[in-house]
Amino acid sequence: MTDILSRARLVVVKVGSSLLVDADTGSLRREWLKTLSADIAALKNEDRHVVLVSSGAIALGRRGLKLKAGPLRLEESQAAAAAGQVRLAGAYADILKADAMTAAQVLLTLDDTEERRRYLNARATLRTLLALGAVPVINENDTVATTEIRFGDNDQLAARVASMMEADVLVLLSDVDGLYTADPTKDGAARHIPEVAAITPEIESMAGGSASGLGRGGMTSKLIAAKIAMSAGCDVVIAKGKTLHPIAALRSGARATRFAASTSPTAARKRWIGGVLKPQGALVIDDGAVRALVAGKSLLPAGIRQIDGRFERGDVVVIRDGEGNEIARGLVAYNASDAERIAGKRSLEIEAILGYRGRDEMIHRDDLALTGPVR
Ligand code: GLU
Repeated sequence: MTDILSRARLVVVKVGSSLLVDADTGSLRREWLKTLSADIAALKNEDRHVVLVSSGAIALGRRGLKLKAGPLRLEESQAAAAAGQVRLAGAYADILKADAMTAAQVLLTLDDTEERRRYLNARATLRTLLALGAVPVINENDTVATTEIRFGDNDQLAARVASMMEADVLVLLSDVDGLYTADPTKDGAARHIPEVAAITPEIESMAGGSASGLGRGGMTSKLIAAKIAMSAGCDVVIAKGKTLHPIAALRSGARATRFAASTSPTAARKRWIGGVLKPQGALVIDDGAVRALVAGKSLLPAGIRQIDGRFERGDVVVIRDGEGNEIARGLVAYNASDAERIAGKRSLEIEAILGYRGRDEMIHRDDLALTGPVR
């Protein structure tokens, strides 16, 4: 039996509201959460990083505010999220702490994963948390979200987080153990599908009739999430979450559907950077820097001779040699005016020149795609 997570360095686990909150009482399923925490501790003991994307704020908060059963108005949902999120985060903090882990709450909006500069900030913070050994617990910042809060949004939020963090595997813990050819609650002949290589219209049509449907975090929303993550090189697993120790169960072969990405996270990201149609500027670099880039190194300010364009931090820029040949493209770590001030300078001098301690690299090698002729 192969462990689906055996090769993963970074795993994003999405936890749905129905797993965390008892539908009858509205209270937190604390015993279950303890077993999830133990599973996360086991992953971390194997030197894997874990990021949690957890729903449950609205479901937990509505009871405390004595909101009636049934659909809530937008502002009631936002109020419930505010009351519930503090409890949710508290529960994660306590329970993970008992397993010697530090939970760190991160509230994102979808814009944070779409708009470049905010994306860079969110990613840098999450990377720092992981490097410090913490377990980020992410939810949508529901109280400021401007669009209606839809159950199922967190599937997509989790997929965007997985692609932003270049995760290897996204585990969507769900109330079903994967994708079926038809809705298994209605059709006795429905077959479970263990492996999906690509999300074809045929696969999509299988999800269409699902009992849980789009509006309730159903299969359709999971397939949208799977598409986002797969195109970023991240494998996706839909697994049953309600059982105790859901991750351990998955690792020892519990039934699930696995969507295998055809590319690696790094390759997907570099392809995206290399394929950006409208770079916002250009950096002209010296021959030493060209050699460094071709050898797989980062671009340091010291090797930069000239800055063109009015780019912002996080924009894609073209990198050219002294003759004007394109060498690479990359996500730049400074805006054009700061880049201008530190061009040609050593990284040690950055803080004195700019007055803040930014990155040592103008473009980190993870953010670079070689696009020039092979040398
Ligand atoms: N963010 C919502 C909550 O925490 C849930 C959204 C979802 O379930 O997808 O209550």
